[in-house]
Amino acid sequence: MLNADEVRKDFPILNRMIHERKLVYFDNAASTLKPIQVIEAIKNFYVNHYANVHRGFHTLSQEASQMYEQAHETLAKFINAYSWDEIVFVNNTTEGLNLVAYSWGLHNINEGDEIVLTVMDHHSSMLPWRHIAKIKKARIKYINVTNDGYLNYDQLDEVINEKTKVVAFPIASNVLGTINDVRKIVKKAREVGALVVADGAQSVPHMPTDVRELGVDFLAFSGHKMLGPTGSGVLWGRRDLLQELKPFKVGGDTIKDVTLDDVIWLNPPWKFEAGTPNIEAAIGLAVAAEYLMKIGMENVRRHEIELVEYMLKMMLETFGDEIIYYGPKNTHHKTGVVAFNVKNLHFHIVAQALDYFGIAVRSGMHCAHPLHYALRISHEYPPPQSVPDEVDERLKRFGSVRASFYIYNTKEEIDYFIGSLSMIILLREQLKTKPVEAVCTG
Ligand code: PMP
Repeated sequence: MLNADEVRKDFPILNRMIHERKLVYFDNAASTLKPIQVIEAIKNFYVNHYANVHRGFHTLSQEASQMYEQAHETLAKFINAYSWDEIVFVNNTTEGLNLVAYSWGLHNINEGDEIVLTVMDHHSSMLPWRHIAKIKKARIKYINVTNDGYLNYDQLDEVINEKTKVVAFPIASNVLGTINDVRKIVKKAREVGALVVADGAQSVPHMPTDVRELGVDFLAFSGHKMLGPTGSGVLWGRRDLLQELKPFKVGGDTIKDVTLDDVIWLNPPWKFEAGTPNIEAAIGLAVAAEYLMKIGMENVRRHEIELVEYMLKMMLETFGDEIIYYGPKNTHHKTGVVAFNVKNLHFHIVAQALDYFGIAVRSGMHCAHPLHYALRISHEYPPPQSVPDEVDERLKRFGSVRASFYIYNTKEEIDYFIGSLSMIILLREQLKTKPVEAVCTG
């Protein structure tokens, strides 16, 4: 079992006071806090071992290279990859997904081909493929989202067909928390021979991941969402595909040899890790992965289910239909993400007011604008019947507040959150008059 009180001792930032109140950090879907073990590992690297990797015979460079290579091994173990060289270190999920879109898409997609995405996609999964589709004159198709926050699987047969070259989707939604049925999507994609690209940004940090079972071709995730440093991320790919794939970014560290008219690339992962990599980020991420493996990813998942169950129960009991909640109600179908609106109180105002109580949440459209428009996710009640043509109008009227949990969160924090939100709702009429300062949609 996961003991959150013990875990909390490893996170020094949890001692921070925010507006003279103890920090309650519910913004984990954006980025998690860092345990002292990760902070110390980065410090140790800088203090004792720092040098560039793969460039020198001197001791420090050898040590740094060894630590960097070992980090690939650790991440391979974390997601049960067959081998360390299936792990490509990237800056974040966004870079990993762009890598696949450019490296694979530019060479394998042709005019008239179809790319299947979902309305639930984070922009980082959706936009690289839309970009490639534009360049290659391919067609984009979407799997829709039902009102209760699931992908519409009834559409699979109609949307995925012989013309489909790629199916890209999130394993878990960053807004609704929905855990998608990977098996169903992979099965259909395989029938037509399409490439399957999974966005694991919101799944890998929160549940066990076994790439041998997932059955996808590529999986990208971010280190900063799983206790690791900013600037750390992973693209996992099937070994044969990584071997075939042309590099996306090219330059130093990617080549075996260069002549004036020829290049021989190194084997994966090196041919994809161009230039001096983010060495300390990879080393820190490996320590984060070790930390999570020690806790056990099943325990992480169980802890989050407990928290999200409690949160939804408390929200319903306390606020009834004053709150609009988005996403599946079955907590076994979702991660620890709770998106909601207080009826007729702007989501940015709610987030700012929660900050006054020391509670960190995110508000806006969470880099999933099409999803907010499709489900009419707005603080307005009744919700807008249509999506306005004017951009600023859309940005102002659509959005949600998102609370998201991780291993150090507790039911006591949820009680405090519910109490704080009760006060905010009591003050709704006064708060309504407050101008919404920044329309930060992110
Ligand atoms: N996909 C999903 C589902 C996400 O939640 C995020 C982060 N919000 C990303 C992709 C992008 O992650 P990053 O900003 O680390 O590239």
